[in-house]
Amino acid sequence: MEINKDNYYSKEIDRHYFSVSQYKSFLKCEAATMAKLNRDYEEPKSDALLFGSYVHSWLDDTQDQFKEENPILFSTRGATKGQMKAEYKLADEMIKVLKLDPFVMMALQGEKEIIMTGDLFGAPWKIRMDVYNPRNGRFADLKTVKGIYEKYWREDIGYCSFVEAYGYITQMAVYTEIESQNRGGDWLENFIVAVSKQDPPDKAVITVDHTSLNIELEDVQKNMERFIAVKSGVEKPDSCGTCHYCRRNKMLNTVLDYRELIG
Ligand SMILES: [Zn+2]
Repeated sequence: MEINKDNYYSKEIDRHYFSVSQYKSFLKCEAATMAKLNRDYEEPKSDALLFGSYVHSWLDDTQDQFKEENPILFSTRGATKGQMKAEYKLADEMIKVLKLDPFVMMALQGEKEIIMTGDLFGAPWKIRMDVYNPRNGRFADLKTVKGIYEKYWREDIGYCSFVEAYGYITQMAVYTEIESQNRGGDWLENFIVAVSKQDPPDKAVITVDHTSLNIELEDVQKNMERFIAVKSGVEKPDSCGTCHYCRRNKMLNTVLDYRELIG
């Protein structure tokens, strides 16, 4: 199946390929993921997603187009009418902070938005690298984050960094493996270029070591047998019971003990 920038996020492509975000979505809730794939459900767009996309539009040089396509970025009334909303002014500040740091700009050097596909654990996958620089032995991904050094909570591991909390180790692991399949060479180094939504914004260039990537790939492999079976319709999807999709479709049939609430 032909894959390009225009159809990368389309349902047809999503039905054929796994991606890191689809994998994470299956981990969170199989029922919601299948409903999205079958067009029975659209997840509400989060402000954080739009914010991150705006910062990314600077990276791949599509900022003007992004502003045109997203009028929600601009104030529509009062004295600030026509100006960027305050929260997106912070995004501009974050972009400036990145631009002014030579080390960050070195880490972001390379081709932008490179799409690749490959086979992993019995299924076709697609990846989209923010920055691809095989000549210097690396690829990079730009992340906007609340706080780079903050503790985040993840049910299965407890307190952890934003890198673990948002599944970025999974992303780096899958990208590293698929890229090396395509090039036919050793694994590249990965950079996570993080910029915080603080005033003033903080920044860091972070990497995930190859041992951690290997452990993560083993975890992905363990889950994939089930996800492939669910996606192909062989197994029925489980409902998580608490996400946006599940809450909307919920009908009670039992009484809970209070100890069940936080599992
Ligand atoms: Zn759910």
